[in-house]
Amino acid sequence: MPDTQPDIEELCIQKGMRMTDQRRVIARVLTEATDHPDVEEVYRRSTAVDNGISIATVYRTVRLFEEAGILERHDFRDGRSRYEPATDDHHDHLINLETGEVLEFHNDEIEKLQEEIARRLGFKLVDHRMELYGVPLDKDN
Ligand SMILES: [Zn+2]
Repeated sequence: MPDTQPDIEELCIQKGMRMTDQRRVIARVLTEATDHPDVEEVYRRSTAVDNGISIATVYRTVRLFEEAGILERHDFRDGRSRYEPATDDHHDHLINLETGEVLEFHNDEIEKLQEEIARRLGFKLVDHRMELYGVPLDKDN
């Protein structure tokens, strides 16, 4: 997660999206989230602010934001899509298989190595995704 999370509502307005009160609540929940929540979790947090928001509205809104390039969707193999604000700040993810917790990291050597691999195969690297799946080490290891 970058130091400054993009303000999703601001981005929506910049893209000329019509912002209803409910969309605003959902946008705020997503802006404040640092844990890559799924739709159910976004729904839970949104209804804590406005209990008139339906899960269908959350699904629709999240999809709308994703299609506008404001939200990034991840599939961390647990069968639920998870979301974070799209940023230019690239990072990769490590998923704790015991808890589902998602850790973010950035490693310059890995970034360089990936470019190198692509170049050797005759490509200019334009994007990549890397997900590491792990379980916590025993404390005495
Ligand atoms: Zn992330």
